[in-house]
Amino acid sequence: LRKDRFIGWYHSHPFDVGVHSNAFLSGTDVNTQLMWQLQFGKWVAIVVDPLRSLAKQKVELGCFMAYPPSYDPPKNQGPDGNFDTNTSNLTTRWGAVYNRYYMLKPTFFMGSLVRHNLEMMSRKHLWIRHLSSTAILEPENRTELPKRINALTKGTTDQSLSRRSTKKSEEALAESLNIRYFFCLLLFFSIYLSFSLASIFLQEGIVCVISRDIAVEQCIGNSGQLVKNVVFNASLGSQ
Ligand SMILES: [Zn+2]
Repeated sequence: LRKDRFIGWYHSHPFDVGVHSNAFLSGTDVNTQLMWQLQFGKWVAIVVDPLRSLAKQKVELGCFMAYPPSYDPPKNQGPDGNFDTNTSNLTTRWGAVYNRYYMLKPTFFMGSLVRHNLEMMSRKHLWIRHLSSTAILEPENRTELPKRINALTKGTTDQSLSRRSTKKSEEALAESLNIRYFFCLLLFFSIYLSFSLASIFLQEGIVCVISRDIAVEQCIGNSGQLVKNVVFNASLGSQ
């Protein structure tokens, strides 16, 4: 067993979701941290921003340690090590005592069994996740969708163009043939055509799969919005 049983403390800042994360240390937090840190040495403060974590669907937290009271840190430096000449930016992001603590880089560890159980219990089966997320309205999705449809349109146009040019060159070639090679070449062309047709069908298969995926995504997204509208707005109206 390790000698160090306690390694720090954590608390949350459940403030409204804004431009910045609310993972920072307040003046009181730094005092509390210092009290323990001076006593134990290795003592870490973790601050969780629960509302931002929910909104962004990922864990938003910060790990911090306080500077010793005697230490004079560089001017205009935030806990993340970045400098900003505008101190109001620093206080907005890191609080009034931005120069009294510093940030540690967090990494996450999770065993495969724990991960599996967590996935089973939350991501796949928690209906709140489905109701609280609107994937099709996420900025990333909204900017990517037109690009995906453009790529798809380009894919289908390129294929029909290349098919047309292949056909033309085959016709030109056929006209210049001598009759004695005709049957021999007919056999060659039938093999060639069957291969090119197969490849065209394969490519069209991929186009079909991509368009089907986009259509299904939009269907699920929009029907989800309709359900939410009925569930939430209807109950609001009846009150
Ligand atoms: Zn706090």
